[in-house]
Amino acid sequence: MRKTIIHHAYFFVFFTSLITAYAAISEKAYASNYEEQFPHVFKRHGPPVYKVALTFDDGPDLTYTPKILNILKREHVKATFFVLGVHAACHPEMIRRIIKEGHTIGNHTFDHINLIHSTRSKIKWEIAATEQVLVRISGQTPKWFRAPYGNVNPLVLTELQQLGYRAVNWSVDSNDWKSLPAKIVKQNILQQVKPGAIILQHCAGNEKEDLTGTVRALPDVIHTLKKRGYQFVTIPQLLNADTKTVHAKK
Ligand SMILES: [Zn+2]
Repeated sequence: MRKTIIHHAYFFVFFTSLITAYAAISEKAYASNYEEQFPHVFKRHGPPVYKVALTFDDGPDLTYTPKILNILKREHVKATFFVLGVHAACHPEMIRRIIKEGHTIGNHTFDHINLIHSTRSKIKWEIAATEQVLVRISGQTPKWFRAPYGNVNPLVLTELQQLGYRAVNWSVDSNDWKSLPAKIVKQNILQQVKPGAIILQHCAGNEKEDLTGTVRALPDVIHTLKKRGYQFVTIPQLLNADTKTVHAKK
């Protein structure tokens, strides 16, 4: 009898891990098709031109965002900030500064929820509430969206399409939210960059996230990529880039 129970237990473990593995594979395969399924809505990278887009998520705050803006200003680099509605409402002056200095603002939901576990009405609310805050502060309606954790599904993408948004994930992950030292943040970015790259970094986080590495790495990242011949552009500039006229600097 005991042997049979153990046997059953083994079989159960084997079977459930098989199902989990299959679910993970099919989810990944399905997720990777979103660019084909929603070509006008969802992007992970730009066309293969010598341009890259720096993107900063989860802000604005008063700790890291101003430091990042100072560096971008000094280096004459324009970037894209995917902001949270709740943070925008707390720091409207930072939203106005980001826009005034020529950067693009995108919607990153109101309070950073995982949209793929949300109902249609909650998804709509997260997008619309953030949009309302941004319109109230800046008079501009954002057209760009990044889902928290990059998590989208057909329901999220359909809602975004109906609301007139384009969703942008990334092709280069700095992993900076893990409080990494500048050297590693820099390495993570520089090793992955290719023409048309969309680079994910953060300009704010929770109290456990130390983004000092992001700030310290930024000047070096910019200098190195400029030397490699890249231009820094915003998301709309990258995705609308003319692929015929842009070449690497020799
Ligand atoms: Zn985020």
